[in-house]
Amino acid sequence: MKPASGPDQLPYASGTGKGSRAPLSAAAIAEGIAGGDPMLLSRAITLQESSREPDRRLAQDVLRSLRGKPGVRIGITGAPGVGKSMFIDALGSYLTGRRHRVAVLAIDPTSSRTGGSILADKTRMSRLAADPRAFVRPSPSGGALGGITSSTHDAMRLCEAAGFSTVLVETVGVGQSEYRVRPLVDLLLLLVQPGAGDELQGIKRGIVEVADMFVVTKADGAALALARRAQRHYRRAAALRGSELRPVELCSALTGDGIEAVWQRIQARLEQLRSSGTLGRRRRVAAADSVRQALERELISSCLASEAAASAAAAAEQAVLEGRMTSLEAARSIVAAFVSASLPN
Ligand code: GDP
Repeated sequence: MKPASGPDQLPYASGTGKGSRAPLSAAAIAEGIAGGDPMLLSRAITLQESSREPDRRLAQDVLRSLRGKPGVRIGITGAPGVGKSMFIDALGSYLTGRRHRVAVLAIDPTSSRTGGSILADKTRMSRLAADPRAFVRPSPSGGALGGITSSTHDAMRLCEAAGFSTVLVETVGVGQSEYRVRPLVDLLLLLVQPGAGDELQGIKRGIVEVADMFVVTKADGAALALARRAQRHYRRAAALRGSELRPVELCSALTGDGIEAVWQRIQARLEQLRSSGTLGRRRRVAAADSVRQALERELISSCLASEAAASAAAAAEQAVLEGRMTSLEAARSIVAAFVSASLPN
């Protein structure tokens, strides 16, 4: 599909963007983002999540013209109901109170069902949503895990370019998205609930292995004793990975107790990871991973844009349906058709 005008002059994508949809140039959007305009930041994220090629091209132009300093990227995961949004609201507000600017990107793996996103974010994070030093944005996963990674990476860069020094990425710890998010963030926090014994239920064992730090939520009122028990339990579960001791903190988003300690622990942990070279390695893996995801997406869309490959795909799908081909054979036949159509005569 050809754009109506140059890539610099395209209209915004339809989707979650609000307000006027008047066309703006990549330079104007970039300038607005660098100046801290949250509406334009939100629109740029919508553009780069879009499945429309002209939108994505415009988003790439915006990203190219921005120079942001990398901020601190923190992933926050945990089973539904564990208290992620309240924790993010409390931690984010603590940080904005100390003059940080905080962006929250929420990845909701269930959103692809409706094609929407986490609708209730404004109410789930009520303090941050009303905080001029914060930016809260649900990121629809679009149903494609690869899409999550490459578009989340670019969304984080957009937030950093807009001057958000801390980016919190929320994922629901029940599916695959947290594994994808792992290489994207500097630090992955796993939130767990009071009540040792049951709490591993609903959390994939693998997440316990890859988390850098554990936070027991809801450590207040009658649940405080249970929360302490959970802390001991997780200290054992989290004890050693290689030679690293992983911290387990307690906090209450309701009372604010422990939030400052969690942040100090995050800082200390980041410093450890930085000085051991782990943080640098993670950033390299993140860059490589986002290139790989983008490459996969690009290869598939270029391949299927070729007529020869598209007709090979139709034939191969039928062959798989009838049991004449395996899916691997089908994929190879499509690639072969694409390659031979792309070779010069
Ligand atoms: P999420 O699904 O992981 O985002 O969880 P929410 O943040 O929406 O919280 C789920 C429920 O736990 C809500 O009913 C909250 O009121 C409650 N909750 C969250 N944090 C705390 C806390 O620190 N203390 C108490 N007592 N309840 C909390």
